[in-house]
Amino acid sequence: TEACLTEIEGADALNAFVHHTPDMARQQAAKADARLRSGDAPAMCGIPLGIKDLFCTKGVASQAASHILGGFKPEYESTVTAKLWEAGAVMLGKLNMDEFAMGSSNETSAYGDVVNPWRRNGTDTALTPGGSSGGSAAAVAADLCLAATGTDTGGSIRQPAAFTGITGLKPTYGRCSRWGIIAFASSLDQAGPMTKSVRDAAIMLQAMAGHDAKDSTSADIPVPDFEAALTGDIRGRKIGLPREYRMDGMPAEIEKLWATGAEMLRDAGAEVVDISLPHTKYALPTYYVIAPAEASSNLARYDGVRFGHRAKLSQGDGITEMYEKTRAEGFGAEVQRRVMVGTYVLSAGFYDAYYNKARKVRTLIKRDFEQVFADGIDAILTPATPSAAFGLGEMASADPVQMYLNDVFTVTVNLAGLPGISVPAGQDQRGLPLGLQLIGKPWEEGDLLNHALVLE
Ligand code: GLN
Repeated sequence: TEACLTEIEGADALNAFVHHTPDMARQQAAKADARLRSGDAPAMCGIPLGIKDLFCTKGVASQAASHILGGFKPEYESTVTAKLWEAGAVMLGKLNMDEFAMGSSNETSAYGDVVNPWRRNGTDTALTPGGSSGGSAAAVAADLCLAATGTDTGGSIRQPAAFTGITGLKPTYGRCSRWGIIAFASSLDQAGPMTKSVRDAAIMLQAMAGHDAKDSTSADIPVPDFEAALTGDIRGRKIGLPREYRMDGMPAEIEKLWATGAEMLRDAGAEVVDISLPHTKYALPTYYVIAPAEASSNLARYDGVRFGHRAKLSQGDGITEMYEKTRAEGFGAEVQRRVMVGTYVLSAGFYDAYYNKARKVRTLIKRDFEQVFADGIDAILTPATPSAAFGLGEMASADPVQMYLNDVFTVTVNLAGLPGISVPAGQDQRGLPLGLQLIGKPWEEGDLLNHALVLE
């Protein structure tokens, strides 16, 4: 814990930690020491963690990287973080992210950009760590903490993990409680571990997972021993390569990475076959209807009354002006865009054409996966992202759709509620890390992690 606190102090330039909690860290570490001495020490005991700013942490600023939650210190602790503290983990502080987890580059944060600790060979261009869990990814990659929490609505754990050379697991929807995690799109959001290795991901998920009566969508099923599943034996398992993910214009280095991953699985005794997920091409548009629709509803609560920021009002302003001014000042451009898209697709005249249609297509996407799993596929291998980390500022100014295209390999997994993991798997020509994604069957995170172990 002391070593991490020192590293964090020297790493301001990365802008990964946005709220520091050294006193709390030292107290928790002292308790962990006592537990270790007494012999009652679970696997997470004494492990210093960074926590994404989306998790409510009691008495500690929790702002979802938004001005609208400026000064908000929750009276309660999220279930996932409470479970981590129970398991003896230590909180070093809160981590930067895209505002309300909307983004793929950490450039929508009210705290400013996070800088990826990696550089292209021979250059010093500052690169994005990805998003929305960009602070978590940068902090783990730069050794500011041993692991971090992330959340993944459309790729926000897996894409930043890929961009920073770490491991990121999005569990099955319902595996971890969403209670106390500031909501973005409730039917897609899921918390997960961002770690230095597959084994660490298994251990940390163990502490985070489990049913919670306070989240009706958390699954009331047993949590198996994830670490015990890590045998490294995948002989006879069947891995699918979905042909729809082989997109036009895919960079040669991404294709090569994918082929190398398939080879590693084959060498370990798995059978690798081509499969089809025919509705893949509808996933991005479906996601970018459903996620903003749910976000617009979730973000209606930021009204200048209940939480955080309230705009200064002028003489004669009424409640409508208060809402308008507060929300105009409090929300950044990307969040406002999502709220507008969301309210539009939910409006009476367009509900059937957009929102309802997207929900139907979502079912078809989910069925594609159910079909291949029913046909005997154990896991699906794809690239995690269409490219390595890009430069800060390189995409932010472009058409927002360019940024959304980053999520092309990851959003299907959230729409179908499946577990997915990104593991570091080589580098591009300029020395930047690349990630491979494995997608597993629902509730089979242990099996998924075991396949990932082979790629590590
Ligand atoms: N990049 C995606 C978005 O902007 C995913 C974000 C996430 O998973 N939280 O919506």
